Amino acid sequence: MRIQSFFKEYNFHPKKRWGQNFLIDENIRRNIIKAADLENNDTVVEIGPGFGALTEDLVKRVKRVIAVEKDNQLTKFLKERFKKFSNLEIVNEDILKFKFALENRCKVIGNLPYYITTPIIFHLFEQKKAIDFILITVQKELGERIIAKPATKDYGILSVKARFFSKPKIVFNISAKSFFPVPKVDSCLLKLDIYEKRRCVEDERLFFKIIEAGFSQRRKTILNCISDNLFLDKNLLKKMLKRADMDCRRRGETFSLKEFVNLSKKIKEDLCSSGKKI
Ligand code: SAM
Repeated sequence: MRIQSFFKEYNFHPKKRWGQNFLIDENIRRNIIKAADLENNDTVVEIGPGFGALTEDLVKRVKRVIAVEKDNQLTKFLKERFKKFSNLEIVNEDILKFKFALENRCKVIGNLPYYITTPIIFHLFEQKKAIDFILITVQKELGERIIAKPATKDYGILSVKARFFSKPKIVFNISAKSFFPVPKVDSCLLKLDIYEKRRCVEDERLFFKIIEAGFSQRRKTILNCISDNLFLDKNLLKKMLKRADMDCRRRGETFSLKEFVNLSKKIKEDLCSSGKKI
């Protein structure tokens, strides 16, 4: 059935504020499912199933699907549409409140509502132990920011954090016309393969503070950004940067993830030995 007929039959008015742009391009739907490379034994959490464009393929391919949809009307519709599938649980909840209480690592798939893409990604990173990969449709520009390399205009906090938790990759681009109603922006399919082993950062809170400080004023040096934001004495910080073999005149936006990790280790060591807290 075409999406417009669904709208008419169910007297459904898409809510712009909830990012309700539904996938209508069959080729893209097939390619998303192909990119997920699913196995019979998998558990999939689908974010924002809508009318079930991806759900139908998912329930036919994997052992268990948990579809989290915020909209009551769509939830009711999905329960009716998929009533014969016992491997599907439809949860009428905000994905930002959803907790992954699962025994096995799951795969997260979804055409995301764009108004909360970044909070969703961070919410998923917080529950990374339960997740194998995240395969999501996001705004193209956001996908580009996530995969951006140091010293480029798109590189920022999101790029560093995404690399800290995962291996990010844009699988393919998706034209705005693949959705109805047609959104204002193009999209891309983004895959974030979550690292099973934690990266070695002793103090994650300090590490994230340093990243945020590093990008706080893009035109300032790392020395000024960190000393201003973390209230560290400039001379002391200069010595820390020297010991970490880093030029204090560089800008934060030129630091790779590995360099931020090293810098946070050195700062942590020096803070511990001087008994200073941040
Ligand atoms: N997957 C469907 C498709 O491809 O046609 C719908 C995609 S649409 C871009 C986003 C979906 O997310 C909508 O169904 C919307 O109601 C739902 N949604 C919006 N905010 C949500 C939230 N906070 N938690 C769960 N679902 C949400």
